[in-house]
Amino acid sequence: MTAALVVVGAGEGARLGLGRNKALVEIDGVTLLERSAAAFADVPGIVERVAVVHPVDLATIIDGPIGAALRRAGFGAIVPGSSTRQASTLAGVRATTSAVRDVLVHDAARPFVRSPRIAALLAALDRVQAAFLAAKVVATVKRVNDEGDVVSTEPRDRLRLAATPQGGRRELLLRLLEEAERDGFSGTDEAALFERAGIRPRAVEDDVTNVKITVPGDLELVRGLVPSPTPRVGHGYDIHRLVDGRRLVLGGVELPSDFGLLGHSDADALLHAVIEALLGAAGLPDIGEHFPDTDPRYKDVDSRKLLAATLEALRSRGLKPLQVDASIIAERPRLKAHKSAIKASLCTLLGLPEDRVAVKARTNEGLDAIGRGEAIAVHCVAMVG
Ligand code: MG
Repeated sequence: MTAALVVVGAGEGARLGLGRNKALVEIDGVTLLERSAAAFADVPGIVERVAVVHPVDLATIIDGPIGAALRRAGFGAIVPGSSTRQASTLAGVRATTSAVRDVLVHDAARPFVRSPRIAALLAALDRVQAAFLAAKVVATVKRVNDEGDVVSTEPRDRLRLAATPQGGRRELLLRLLEEAERDGFSGTDEAALFERAGIRPRAVEDDVTNVKITVPGDLELVRGLVPSPTPRVGHGYDIHRLVDGRRLVLGGVELPSDFGLLGHSDADALLHAVIEALLGAAGLPDIGEHFPDTDPRYKDVDSRKLLAATLEALRSRGLKPLQVDASIIAERPRLKAHKSAIKASLCTLLGLPEDRVAVKARTNEGLDAIGRGEAIAVHCVAMVG
């Protein structure tokens, strides 16, 4: 049977204390919201996807790269949440259609849920009308009094830690959410709403790795759960003729010079070589295919814009730059005094720390056209993952 997914990421995440909404906190450059959405990508039976985000972030998300990533992941609606999780969930469920039998609600703060568990949950919903993922309790559970002294040791074999996704029949869940809002009842999860209606939602076995990121320490703990990217290497090369009366731009930095590089764009040979290397590492066609020099849109274009478009192309494939190493070959001007500014610019443009970017400059020892000062060439190796 078909189901809709509602990923709820509308909370403010005050406990994380990061000054931004929790769903937008990043692990290795990818937000919790995108990671949680991606966890459902390969699950059969999910035919509608809705993201619920904080109203403050709505426009930024819809118009920006996160919205684009969500739409690529099949999200047909991104809707504003409300002041409570339950009201946000209701907004999300309302954005699903009656074409689906079931709705799964998932916390954006649980990016490590695994697709076989989600599939098992959906299978359970063919037998019961409400279910949720829940892990067995592995610790010994003690009940204590006000002083913290043990009153009893609880048998743990019947205890479960409720996680998400949780869900059930759409029409039922929608009605229970509306009734709860009307009655001022606040359930801490969707299962509580089914329980309130006398329904016993089924706990479907979950992994202990489906953790909820709540406090700053959680972010550190879960880094080991993020699969490290397989590094991919690309090579880039570019050469531009030096002519009088052109601007000289390298790595997005304009250098003081009476001569500059000739080209259709701003002729930033360094950024072009970096772009070629990044595209190569991603297995994408070269810069000429992406930004043809016959296209008037790219006449005198700032190559930083081409790099930004390249990074977006990588991002849409789940890739980002890990490291860049470039060698500029120029007889004139001498670049020694400008290398650190060029490197700083590359770090900013690529979003990489200093120790992941190298910019080297050398002459061609007076040999050939570069040696005669007629051109500047750049070689670049980039790693992405
Ligand atoms: Mg070029």
